[in-house]
Amino acid sequence: MEKMKAIVVTPEQGTEIVKKKLRPLKSGEALLKMICCGVCHTDLHVKNADFGDVSGRILGHEGIGEVVEVADDVTSLKVGDRSSVAWFFEGCGHCEYCTTGRETLCREVKNSGYTVDGGMAEYCIVTADYSVKVPDGLDSAPASSITCAGITCYKAIKEANLIPGQWILISGLGGLGNLAVQYAKEVFNLKVIGVDINDTQLNFAKESGADILINPLHEDVGKVVHEKVGGVHGAVVTAVAKSAFNQAVDALRAGGTVVAVGLPSESMDLSIPRLVLDGIEVKGSLVGTRQDLAEAFQAGAEGKVIPKCEMRPMEDINEIFEEMEAGKIQGRMVLEL
Ligand code: NAD
Ligand code: ZN
Ligand code: ZN
Repeated sequence: MEKMKAIVVTPEQGTEIVKKKLRPLKSGEALLKMICCGVCHTDLHVKNADFGDVSGRILGHEGIGEVVEVADDVTSLKVGDRSSVAWFFEGCGHCEYCTTGRETLCREVKNSGYTVDGGMAEYCIVTADYSVKVPDGLDSAPASSITCAGITCYKAIKEANLIPGQWILISGLGGLGNLAVQYAKEVFNLKVIGVDINDTQLNFAKESGADILINPLHEDVGKVVHEKVGGVHGAVVTAVAKSAFNQAVDALRAGGTVVAVGLPSESMDLSIPRLVLDGIEVKGSLVGTRQDLAEAFQAGAEGKVIPKCEMRPMEDINEIFEEMEAGKIQGRMVLEL
């Protein structure tokens, strides 16, 4: 095979497009001819070495490609299928996490675009049993957004254990958060309070159905939430800021749950009396399982969730990261491969 174009992390914590040679497939693998790949804020963290130096790695974990070849023993995918390149690339399959529906916590996990080469390339080799097929009726660009942003929000809301009609606060209404609003409204039947420091994102969330919107630069989140609805039953925090996590705790009613999703390199404050006397629960949620992705895709295929995507050429990657850092992106920028 000819060499393929791929976006790799450079030692200077930028990215460059290089030509890379693909190796032949091994048992259990499939080769995807990539169609598109979304740019997640996690790619920005990875590129910036927030989780360690991975220079040389091909970025991308919101990838959708068409299967063009499978190893002899593969039965879960066939040539012509469209399938995903997700952050959860592969687990060991036999540990306490892999066997109890918590496979993303596997200690031997491989992550696309971080510990193994990802989807921002013309081709990508995946482990067939771990790559989730895109249902017919869901276009590739929206499917790419669901592969990380969508599944992560869908799973995080599940983790909050809410019932229809309850209040959820979504803090950070960017690539993830705008989808969280849609999943909360259309799939979980919740009432939604959206929080962001950027008014454009707040307006966008309003269009997506958020019931109440708060800008913490102008209002006290906890105070407004308690005044208006008596506190939320759950909160999902995607914002990349410590203050957002603290505000989410303030906004909870007794017995409420904060699900942490955003990854600022900081610690949050948590008053022990608040935790104990009000029975607050705080948990982290990391992407989702293959089954979560299949469910999140299905909501997209049924038109319940409509990701907002803008197609961009591969060459725009560094520009997109600058726009992301400046908070100028609404929905997702998706690279056309
Ligand atoms: P994004 O840049 O598209 O959106 C972030 C949003 O947060 C923006 O709208 C921004 O205005 C808003 N924001 C910033 N400061 C805020 C504040 N103080 N209060 C409220 N809102 C604030 O990023 P994204 O792609 O949505 O990713 C968000 C975070 O989630 C990143 O840290 C990313 O690494 C992480 N992430 C985690 C998982 C997981 O599995 N846990 C999966 C994907 C992404
Ligand atoms: Zn991601
Ligand atoms: Zn495992």
